[in-house]
Amino acid sequence: MSAVNTKIVVAIDGPAGAGKSTVAKILAEKLHCTYIDTGAMYRAVAFEILEKSKNPTEDEIEIQAQKILEDFQIDLKFENGMTRVFVNGRDISEEIRTPRVSQLVPYVASIDFVREKLVDLQRKMSRNQSVVLDGRDIGTVVLPDANVKIFLTASIEERARRRFEELKSKGIESVDLETLQREIAARDRADIERKISPLRQAPDAIRIDSTNDRIDQVVAMILEQCELIR
Ligand code: C5P
Repeated sequence: MSAVNTKIVVAIDGPAGAGKSTVAKILAEKLHCTYIDTGAMYRAVAFEILEKSKNPTEDEIEIQAQKILEDFQIDLKFENGMTRVFVNGRDISEEIRTPRVSQLVPYVASIDFVREKLVDLQRKMSRNQSVVLDGRDIGTVVLPDANVKIFLTASIEERARRRFEELKSKGIESVDLETLQREIAARDRADIERKISPLRQAPDAIRIDSTNDRIDQVVAMILEQCELIR
């Protein structure tokens, strides 16, 4: 098969703030394929719940999630290195990145019917095209037959530092480093300890610890793996 015709599926999993989305976007551009930010999909459901109920109880979260998913049209538009997220035609790309959504999303992502629906959508989106996906369960559950599976991680201190710098570059200076580190650790714990599709490294995934690596070095390592299957 020629390189042009080879369908390539790259799965990148790992904890929060490891650089998955930055790496995935660059890879998608270099490989001329679509980037699917699966975290954005869970965030979109969490955001829609907060739109319906400001301080939802556990029961309300489930009830609202059920209603929202009955009529849930999500589009991820990957253009010029950016993903824009539309739900039922409304652009919620910025809204899904707020701390409130980040805090709620692990609870939403632990609901079985939410995962079932979003995993089904992710598989449909990946059909018939080359894709790079990032998330927590891509190599283990969503696409266990992916050509290249990466588990991207970094120390908690480094992940918090990167988020801190990212927020600062956006002019958000209200969050301190310790708070960020606590929030990331809490999200990791929820993702690792949940019963359904917990965050795990797939047995055949390549583990990359990016604590001391630059983004371009990580990208180069993954591209090397992609070359091997072309
Ligand atoms: O990748 P991001 O940090 O935006 O993901 C937000 C949250 O969505 C994660 O903390 C996790 O709870 C959930 N998620 C998931 N499975 C995925 C992607 C994200 O459970 N494949």
